[in-house]
Amino acid sequence: ATDLTGKHALVTGGSRGIGAAIAWALAERGADVAITYERSADHAAEVVTAIEKQGRRAFAIQADSADAAAVKRSVANAAEHLNGLDILVNNAGIARGGDFVDMSLDDIDALLNVNVRAPWLASQAAIPLLPEGGRIITIGSCLAERVAVGGVTAYSATKSALLSFTRGLARELGPRGITVNVVQPGPIDTDMNPADNGDFSEMNRRMTALGHYGKPADIAAMVTFLASPAGRFATGGVFTVDGGTNA
Ligand code: NDP
Repeated sequence: ATDLTGKHALVTGGSRGIGAAIAWALAERGADVAITYERSADHAAEVVTAIEKQGRRAFAIQADSADAAAVKRSVANAAEHLNGLDILVNNAGIARGGDFVDMSLDDIDALLNVNVRAPWLASQAAIPLLPEGGRIITIGSCLAERVAVGGVTAYSATKSALLSFTRGLARELGPRGITVNVVQPGPIDTDMNPADNGDFSEMNRRMTALGHYGKPADIAAMVTFLASPAGRFATGGVFTVDGGTNA
C-alpha cells in the first residue's frame, strides 16, 4: 500500500538534506523524481545519479524558489519531462535568524518568498496538472506551532502560514480526490541545522523528548507514507515529526 510505481514526483530543494532524502525515498518506492535546487549543481547531480542507479528516472532543475517565474517553470518542466505530475513536495526552505527588530528587509523578503510564496506558486502551477489521487505535501516546521526561544520569530511565522494554506487547499482539492498535508520536522541533522557543533545543537537536542536529532530519512518516511495510496484519507493534516519537541 506504500508502492509508488508509475508515479511522478517533484521535490523542491532536493539537492541536499531533507529534500534529497525525500527524493531518494520516493524513488525507492518506484516513483520517477524531479528535484529543484538553487546553487548546488554537483549535489543535485549526485542525487540524480543515485536515483538512476535504482532504475528510476530522475532529473534536476535549477530554479531559485525566490523567483516566481522560475518556480512556475520548474513545475511545468517537471511534468513535461516526467510525463505527468502526481506528487508535489514543497521542501525548499531557508532559515534566517536573529532578533526580529533588527531583521533586514532583504531577509524578510527572502523568508517570505522562499518559505511561503514558493509553495503557493508551485501548488498553483501543479493543481491543474494533478490527477485524482494527486498529492501536495509541504515541509513546515514544529516551530509553526510552538516557539520556545527567541531569534526565530520570522522563520516560525513563515512556517505557520503553511498551516492555513494546507487546510484551505485541502478543502478546495478534496472534491478532486487530491490530498494536501504539511509535515513538520523538529531538529533534523542537515546543513541547515547540524547535530554537532551547531550554535543550537545542544539546545535543540535537550528540547526533544527522545534526546537526539532526527535524520532526513525520518521526515522522508512520513512524506512517502502520505504520498502513497495508504495515505489516501489523510488531508488537511499536520504531521509533526519532531522527536517530541512540541510534546
Ligand atoms: P538544507 O539547508 O540542508 O537544504 C536546503 C535545500 O533547499 C537544498 O537542496 C537547497 O538547494 C534548497 N534551497 C534553499 N533555498 C533555495 C532556493 N531559494 N531555491 C531553490 N532551492 C533552495 O535544509 P533542510 O534539508 O534542513 O530543510 C529542508 C526543509 O525542512 C526546509 O523547508 C526547512 O525549513 C525545513 N525544516 C528543517 C529542519 C531541520 O532541523 N533541518 C527543522 C524544521 C523544518 P541548494 O543545495 O542549491 O542550496
